[in-house]
Amino acid sequence: MKIRPIPNILLNLYSSIFTLQSALHVLDSTAMKFRAVKGTYDILPSNLAKDVYEDQNRWHYVYEVVNRVLGHAGVKELTTPVLEQAEVFVKSVGESSDIVVQKEMYTLQDAGGRLLALRPEFTGGVMRAFIEHGLHVQPMPVKLWNRGPIFRAEVQPQRGRFRQFHQVNCEIIGLDNPATDAEAITLLYNVLSELGLKNMVVKLGSVGDPQDRVAYNQYLRETLEHAKLSETSRERLKLNPMRVLDSKDKSDQEIVKVLKKPLEFLNTEARAHFDAVQKYLSDWEIPVEVDDSIVRGLDYYRRTAFEVHHNSIGAQSALCGGGRYDGLIESLGGSKTPGVGWAFGVERVLDAMQQDGVTVAESSKPILYFVALDDEAVSETMKASFALRNYHHIQHGYTARKPGKGLQEADRSGATYAALRGKVERENQSYQVKNLRSGEQVEVKENELKNFLERSTKGEE
Ligand code: AMP
Repeated sequence: MKIRPIPNILLNLYSSIFTLQSALHVLDSTAMKFRAVKGTYDILPSNLAKDVYEDQNRWHYVYEVVNRVLGHAGVKELTTPVLEQAEVFVKSVGESSDIVVQKEMYTLQDAGGRLLALRPEFTGGVMRAFIEHGLHVQPMPVKLWNRGPIFRAEVQPQRGRFRQFHQVNCEIIGLDNPATDAEAITLLYNVLSELGLKNMVVKLGSVGDPQDRVAYNQYLRETLEHAKLSETSRERLKLNPMRVLDSKDKSDQEIVKVLKKPLEFLNTEARAHFDAVQKYLSDWEIPVEVDDSIVRGLDYYRRTAFEVHHNSIGAQSALCGGGRYDGLIESLGGSKTPGVGWAFGVERVLDAMQQDGVTVAESSKPILYFVALDDEAVSETMKASFALRNYHHIQHGYTARKPGKGLQEADRSGATYAALRGKVERENQSYQVKNLRSGEQVEVKENELKNFLERSTKGEE
């Protein structure tokens, strides 16, 4: 037999398949090494969670409480896209904010050349939606809340400081009445209290009106012109002098300690507003501490500014920031509309809940686990399981098992009862039902299973 040489075209094909296969092989082995992006993490089914952040049950609990407390106050949930035009946030957080200056905003360009951003905060998107849907014609105030992921390109992600984290955000839009500032703070206090937080402190301050800020910034620039400030504070002094008060640098803090505070610069109306907010809160027995040096990183804040801190969650003690932002909607192209709002970081609240010993109920366990003792019973038990799931949490195996192994699986599932089905049970149209806690076993007719479970969940069995 004559051996013919392999044609070139086939050789090329083989070699390219070979290259692809080895490339896939390499990909396959590196795929095993993929991890969540630095500064992000997974929220897992609770039984797999090693940390409160990862525990899905805790997240459900937080959102349930938020939904109930805010829902009862007529605050409606609004879901805005994670992606917005970057300009929305540049306007809302301000050119001089850390988010813009320190390039914390994740931006991308779409095919049409538009600059988009993953939201670094909620308020900008909420106000964009408020304007876009003409919500200013609704009765005022319009009360909205949001939940979801927030993205910031933090340089050094760590516990309590992530690149993707989550906030619950709340806005009361349309009134400049100090009663709305006090209501916003009360709602926040009620949500956090309902979540079980005990060791939190609400700090209340005021950044005054724009002219007060101008005067205060002027004072800071003049006073600190020759001071030996850190590099960051020098930069802040140029762009947003008030932020120097936020410095974490020890020697900056010494310098700042003796300076006049924003509260000393309030005009008469801003002072009256501040006093009225405090009066309401005291009438309603909401404990707050006046903090005369509270400043906000975001440019749109006016008058009321507040923070909630929890002292046992480490360096990142701020749970929540909020305040009044009367100039914002206008700067985004809407009509002159005042508003007040807040946002808390869910991860930090989860940490605080853990520190305050808050426990959350375990997720539901199956009441019953079906065990098939022969092949025919696999389909039968699954069918029975599907029917009962209209009423209860039911699990089942997928292959025939010996009774011992089947009971072991039932036990591992956390079920209270195991229902076994084999030839004898098929003939009797029944199940052997074993109480996995007491060991007691009874025969239950197929059509009686539902009633049996109903009685046993009422504790009558
Ligand atoms: P801010 O929008 O900066 O006023 O932040 C409001 C709240 O969000 C803070 O008080 C924190 O609880 C939370 N927060 C802000 N940045 C982060 C972050 N990088 N990681 C986790 N939580 C954060």
